[in-house]
Parts: sequence; C-alpha cells; structure tokens
Amino acid sequence: MLDELVKYAQDNKIPIMLSDGIDYLCKYIEKYHIKNILEIGTAIGYSAIRMCLVNNNIHVTTIEKDRDRYDIAINNINKFHLNDRIDVIYGDALEVDVDEIYDLIFIDASKGHSVDFFVKYKDNLRKDGTIITDNLSFHGLVEDESLAVTKNQRGIVKKIKKFIEFLDNNEEFNTDYVSVGDKISISCRKKKHEDR
Ligand code: SAM
Repeated sequence: MLDELVKYAQDNKIPIMLSDGIDYLCKYIEKYHIKNILEIGTAIGYSAIRMCLVNNNIHVTTIEKDRDRYDIAINNINKFHLNDRIDVIYGDALEVDVDEIYDLIFIDASKGHSVDFFVKYKDNLRKDGTIITDNLSFHGLVEDESLAVTKNQRGIVKKIKKFIEFLDNNEEFNTDYVSVGDKISISCRKKKHEDR
C-alpha cells in the first residue's frame, strides 16, 4: 500500500520525501522515542503515515493548505486505519494556530517560508525537542546556483540560503545538516535555552 502512495505521487507529480530521507527520519523518531509530531506540509499523507507506522505510540498532526491533497491524505490515512493517530488540519500553516507541544516539528511545505514556519512553531516545541526541515539542497540547486534556470527556482534558492543563514546564526538553536534525501537540517535548542 505504501508503494501505491509513492507511485501515485510520482504519477501525479506530487513531491514527497525521498526514500532515504524518510527512512532516516523514521529511524530518528525510533531512536529518540518521539511520540508527538507536528508536520507542516501533508501532501497526500505519505510521510505522516510513514512516521506513524514507526510504532503505535506515535501521534501526528499535519497541516495542508491544498484542498485536493488534503482530501486525498484523509482518504489514504483512512485506508491505513490511522485516522485516530493522524490529525490533518486543512489550512495555511502560516495562519493556523496550534496550542499543543510537540517532541518533533517536521517542516516540509513551501520552501520559501521555512524561516516563517520555524519562527511561528518553535514555541510549540518541547524544550528539548527537535525541528527537522527538508529540501535544504533543493535538488542540488543550493550548492550550484547555475543549475537554477527559472526565476522561480532562483527565488527559492535565495530563500533556502537565507534559511540556512538564519539557522547558522540562530541564538536559540544549534543545527546539524544531514545529506540524506534532499538534505535535511536538524535543529535542537541550545542547553541555556532549554530552561526558559
Ligand atoms: N511531507 C509530504 C511527504 O513527504 O509525504 C510532502 C509535502 S510536499 C513537499 C509540500 C506540501 O506542503 C504541499 O502539498 C503543499 O500544498 C503544502 N504547503 C505548502 N505551503 C503550505 C502552507 N503554507 N500551509 C500548509 N501547507 C502548505
């Protein structure tokens, strides 16, 4: 059934996490006993389902602004009988308000708004929790900007570079970068900020 989701995404040009990226994320969730996850960017529910399937203790809240994708995600989550462990919020994550606290926040929505998502949701993170963001490489265009041929691509690359600069100079969080999938960042609060 998971292969069918991947095929559907490929056939319909819906971007979902690359397989080594989602495998890494699932291992991270298992290793650090993560239970409560907030995902920004559901698409058709693939990564939310994969994360939830790590073990029965996991609960995912995920936000999607595209109505068709939201509907498909709900349908897929029902097929996996995970509707009691995955809550899908239909809306723009820049406007939605959540008041829960999460062990992990996974940012995988519009690449130009990663700073905004990070700033908006960091207070929903457990003091020693983790924020993981996908697509730091943007298929190699961030490392080699000459590959960005369209104005849109150049704009996204610029914003991803700004996000990396934001992470590298962040007072509150330390960030590591891991070259899996399309490259992810893993941000954890600096110790002195854990006791806020
Ligand atoms: N995490 C998914 C997976 O790996 O299965 C893939 C998510 S896809 C890369 C990004 C999704 O974020 C798209 O479906 C897009 O509609 C959604 N999105 C983009 N900006 C958003 C926003 N501001 N609020 C909510 N969803 C957003």
